[in-house]
Amino acid sequence: APPTTSAASTATEYPTNHQKIANPIDTANFLDNEFVPSKATKWIDLHDPATNNLVTRVPQSTDEELQAAVKSAEKAFPAWRATSIMARQQIMFKFTSLIRENWNRLAASITLEQGKTFADAKGDVLRGLQVAETACGITTQMTGEVLEVAKDMETRSYREPLGVVAAICPFNFPAMIPLWCIPVATVTGNCLVMKPSERDPGAAMILAELAKEAGFPPGVINIVHGQHRTVDFILDAPAIKAISFVGSNKAGEYIYTRGSANGKRVQANLGAKNHAAVLPDCNKNHALNAITGAAFGAAGQRCMALSTVVMVGETKEWLPEIAERAKGLHMNGGFEEGADLGPVISPESKKRIEDLIASAEAEGATILLDGRGQMPEKYPNGNFVGPTIITNVTPDMRCYKEEIFGPVLVCLNVESLDDAIDLINANEYGNGAAVFTRSGSTASRFQKECEAGQLGINVPIPVPLPMFSFTGNKKSIAGGGANTFYGKPGLQFFTQQKTVTSHWKSEDAVSTKANVVMPT
Ligand code: NAD
Repeated sequence: APPTTSAASTATEYPTNHQKIANPIDTANFLDNEFVPSKATKWIDLHDPATNNLVTRVPQSTDEELQAAVKSAEKAFPAWRATSIMARQQIMFKFTSLIRENWNRLAASITLEQGKTFADAKGDVLRGLQVAETACGITTQMTGEVLEVAKDMETRSYREPLGVVAAICPFNFPAMIPLWCIPVATVTGNCLVMKPSERDPGAAMILAELAKEAGFPPGVINIVHGQHRTVDFILDAPAIKAISFVGSNKAGEYIYTRGSANGKRVQANLGAKNHAAVLPDCNKNHALNAITGAAFGAAGQRCMALSTVVMVGETKEWLPEIAERAKGLHMNGGFEEGADLGPVISPESKKRIEDLIASAEAEGATILLDGRGQMPEKYPNGNFVGPTIITNVTPDMRCYKEEIFGPVLVCLNVESLDDAIDLINANEYGNGAAVFTRSGSTASRFQKECEAGQLGINVPIPVPLPMFSFTGNKKSIAGGGANTFYGKPGLQFFTQQKTVTSHWKSEDAVSTKANVVMPT
C-alpha cells in the first residue's frame, strides 16, 4: 500500500543518527490538511549528506497535484480572510508553542537531510520560530490609519490579504526560511502554496503537520514538491498573487523576471559574498574567533556566511592564526557530539567547491589551509570539505567573483579603511558586511559608506531579528530591495492597501447642480 503520510510525519522522533534507514518512506504532498501520496512518475532521491544513504524520495508533483494545491488554497481563502484576526492570532500562538515542543524533532530532520550540526539546526528552527512569535502581534501590526481630511470627510487605510500566495525555498535553512513566509503570509489572511527545497523538505513537512494541529483550516497551507516544473507552474498560475523566493541568483533572477511579467508581486532574496574588514585596532581575539565561526559554521552554507575577509594593513599577519583556529574545528556527521561543521549538501556541491579552490591555486592565490580530501573517519562516503583558507586573493579571481557556498574563506589584503570600503562596494553583491574595530569613527564611516544592506560592527553575521527586516542590497536581492522579508516590509508584501474616503454631510445639499471640476 502507498504510504499515507510524509516521511517526516511518520515518526514522532526523527532519527538522531546517520544510520541507514531500512525502509525510506516517500515524501508526500500536503493538500487540504492531509498528507497525500504523490502519483508522480519522476522522483528525486534525497540522501543524507554525511553518508549518501537514501533518506526519502521527493516527488516531482504532478500537474493535477499542483492544480489541486492552488484550488485548495483558493477554496479556503474566503473563509480564512473572514476569520477574526484574534482567531488567527490564537492559531499562531498554538503554532509557535508546537514548534517549541517539536524543536528537537525539527532540528533532527534538518541534520539528517541538510547535514548541519544538530546544535546549529536548533538555531535554524529558532530563527524561524522568532518570526512566528513576532507574527503573534498581528493585532497591533495590521492596524490602518484614519484622518479627518476635511469637514465631514475622512480617509481610512486598511490592509487586506492578497489571496493565494506562494513560497519557493532553498536548501540551506529548511525551517527558518519556510517560517519567514508561513506566519506572515497566513496571519495576514492569505492562503499559501509552498514548495520547499527538493533537497530537504522534511522540516517543512513537520511544520505542515504542526500547522494542522495548531488549527489552520484545510487549504490555508498546502505543500507541493519538485524542481523547475513546479516553479514554472507557480510562476504562471493566474490565482497566485505573490511569490516569496529565497535562493541562488540563477533561479531567483529568472523567477523575479517571469513572476513580475505575469503581474505578480515577487520578493526574492539571492546570493551573497559577505566581507569583513579587519582593522589593526580591533579586539583581535574576538575578531579571529568571530571570523572563523562565521566562515566555517554550517560548512559555509549560509547566505550570511562571512566568506571574504579584507585584512587592513598589518592584520594580514594574523591569517595563520585564523588557520590555527580553523584547524581546531571538528568536522563530523552533524549528530556526532562535538561536531563543529558537517558535510556540504551534495557530491556536486563538494565538487564545485573543490574546483573553485583549484581555480584559485591555478590563478596564483595561496592555499593556506586546504580542506580538500578531508573526511571524518566514520563517514567516508559523505560530502565533506574541510575548512579552507585562500590568501593573496585578488578581485579578478574566480574564487572572489563567485559565491562558493562552502567552508572556504577568501582573504584579500589592503592598506587602509578607504581601500577596504572601496573593495567591498565594488563587489556586486550586498547582502552583509562587517567591520572589526575599536574606533567609533571607523565604525561610523563604515556604517555610512558601505553599501551592503546588513552591517555588523564587531558582529560577524548581522542578521536582523524579525521586528526588523532582512535588508540585503544590490545583487543579493531582486527588484532593488523594495520587497524585503519579515518585519514591516514583510507585512506590506503580503497585504494590499486599500483607502476609503467617506463624506457624511451634516446638512442637506442646497444646490441641485452637479460639480464637475476637481475640488480646489
Ligand atoms: P537554488 O536557487 O538552487 O534553489 C532554490 C529554489 O529554487 C529551490 O526550491 C529549487 O528547487 C528552485 N530552483 C533551483 N534552480 C532553479 C531554476 N533554474 N529554475 C527554477 N527554480 C529553480 O538555491 P539553493 O542552492 O537551494 O540555496 C542556496 C542559495 O540561496 C545561495 O545562493 C544562498 O546565498 C541563497 N540564499 C539566500 C538567502 C538570502 O536571504 N539572501 C538566504 C538563504 C539562501
